[in-house]
Amino acid sequence: MARRRLIPFLFIGAFFSMGASYRTQNFVVEAATPEIARQVGEYAEHYRREKARLWLLREMPPWSQPCPLKATVTMSGSGGATSFAFDNGQVLGQRMHIEGTLDRLLASVLPHEVTHTVFAFHFRQPVPRWADEGGSVLSEDEQERRRHDLLVRRIINDGRMIPLRRLFTLREYPSDVMALYAQGFSVSEFLVSRSSRPAFLNFVYAGMAQGWDQAARVHYGFNSVEELEQAWIQYLRSPKQTAPAQVASAAATLRSPSADQVVVRQTAPPAQPLQDFAAPRPVYRGQSPSPEDTTTQPFRPTSMSAPACPGGICPATSGQPPRAQLLPPQYVTPQGASVILPSYPQ
Ligand SMILES: [Zn+2]
Repeated sequence: MARRRLIPFLFIGAFFSMGASYRTQNFVVEAATPEIARQVGEYAEHYRREKARLWLLREMPPWSQPCPLKATVTMSGSGGATSFAFDNGQVLGQRMHIEGTLDRLLASVLPHEVTHTVFAFHFRQPVPRWADEGGSVLSEDEQERRRHDLLVRRIINDGRMIPLRRLFTLREYPSDVMALYAQGFSVSEFLVSRSSRPAFLNFVYAGMAQGWDQAARVHYGFNSVEELEQAWIQYLRSPKQTAPAQVASAAATLRSPSADQVVVRQTAPPAQPLQDFAAPRPVYRGQSPSPEDTTTQPFRPTSMSAPACPGGICPATSGQPPRAQLLPPQYVTPQGASVILPSYPQ
């Protein structure tokens, strides 16, 4: 008897562990249920069109191979990673894994990861991490953009800012991954606000090819990366519109870079060594993940606590940029009323 009663449960368990699959033109989604797989697939196609139009002013042609997309719905936290294989200026293969609550997957994680595919399609080689992650966060919803806007101010105030001259040349994730995400987002937003998304991509390509001083001069009129950095800090002091510019300049023309290297690349930082800080645990995507999330989600972190300086005074560190103290962001609504966010996220 006991054995016969077990059988239906075994079948049910096997069914759910197999999950469901949904095929769109460019994605093969694997998820726990057919409905989730369908939703994720349709949103992925939507963002694939939308983000390519925004960043490249045109849609991408269908991929020759659909991108496997594994979607794992959880109760808290969220994150994602996309792997690419570049070969001789082509994207040979890509694979995406997203994990989190369904609403954050659809509103935030999916547009972020899909933007990585747009950049991979355009650059056909690994993109500098700050621009790859920064542009992808810029593609997320307003909730995430505001969170990163708060975070970058805290990073600067805490003296954790990575000088842009170093940030621009980072090929891999630094130990302070959140500084890369937050500064990458903020600098990308600043530069896009001065021009357009396609112009920003042209700047990134020029920086990779000719150096960042030259790119800053030619594309934005700054004499050096340091001058660009000062203008960005000043931008952070100024009120900004609630909705960052979404419309790319139709006048901008986009150069198509080329590459001839075989490279495998993943858009997720490695396990965090945290050697820069004594105690803090990384907090992965999501506002309030449970403690076990930090060990079960090998995805991009979006928040990390910094150690408090004794008495609120941080010691000067050699090689660090000039310190700046920034207030929380002040947003100007379309009606002209200002909104100051009350505090930094903890
Ligand atoms: Zn990313």
